[in-house]
Amino acid sequence: MWISVPLHKGKYDCAAGIDNWLKGWSHRKQNWCCQNKGIGCLHEVNCLSAARACLCSSRQSARNMEAATRLRDPHAETPQSLFPQQELEELILNDKKAFLKTKCAECGGSCGLAKKYKETMSVIIKSMIDTFWCRDCGRVLCDTHRYQHTCEKLDALKEKNAKITKEALLEQLRADEERKEAAEAAARAEQRRAAEQLEQEKSQRKAKRKILATKAKQVESFIQQRSRDADGLRPATHNQLLELYPRARGLALALYNQFEHPDNTEVGGKDWEDVKEIYSKARELTGMIIMTEDGPLDMHNPWEPAPADDQ
Ligand SMILES: [Zn+2]
Ligand SMILES: [Zn+2]
Repeated sequence: MWISVPLHKGKYDCAAGIDNWLKGWSHRKQNWCCQNKGIGCLHEVNCLSAARACLCSSRQSARNMEAATRLRDPHAETPQSLFPQQELEELILNDKKAFLKTKCAECGGSCGLAKKYKETMSVIIKSMIDTFWCRDCGRVLCDTHRYQHTCEKLDALKEKNAKITKEALLEQLRADEERKEAAEAAARAEQRRAAEQLEQEKSQRKAKRKILATKAKQVESFIQQRSRDADGLRPATHNQLLELYPRARGLALALYNQFEHPDNTEVGGKDWEDVKEIYSKARELTGMIIMTEDGPLDMHNPWEPAPADDQ
């Protein structure tokens, strides 16, 4: 009888100890390497000891033949349990009842599908297809045979591996490993690139917020200064200017906070629009403008679209 070993989810180094795999490897490792790499399969050797539950190649092939005949004969009592993926998915979605009755392609017994999936939504069952269906050969299988069955693809791999030299086998394992590492490295690089871009965008937003905060502060100081120096201003005008000041101050503070403690909100937004409006009002009232080192304060920012030509 074929020993039933629980499917090991982890990974073994199938190159390690390959010289002495029969005696040196645990059953779990033999099983894993056989199922995943087609190496260290017990039925490739003769039964060496009765104590070790191994499968003789003759018994294995007899059973394989049996299963294959059962599957290929359209009049056989055992239902056909070979499916292309799409066909099986359609069966699950369109005729769940029939699907739940599907027999194991290896032993012809129940797959226990009804027990497991009676109450499960079809789309969920579909997403778990790998637990009862073999991608390599298309068989639907019971739990016992899901990872122990006649599998043309795996058998071909085993046969190939049994014939090639140990060096070639090691080379094949190494190439497998390299491919996997390359894929992982590419994924990591992509992650890094995305993180860098995010960081760059963040620092660009911070630079913009700094410009806005600086300009708002200049507007605030301008209004403060003009309201103190009321000479030549009509009282009504002066009052309007005094009313503008607290608003300018609040906005300057808000924009400074957005620079110092940035969140994910849009740069500027309504606060910045208000600052522009206040500055334009203040210019009207005072008939003066803010002069900076670079000339008149430009309320148009370099990253914004060119202003409409309405001045
Ligand atoms: Zn079975
Ligand atoms: Zn298979």
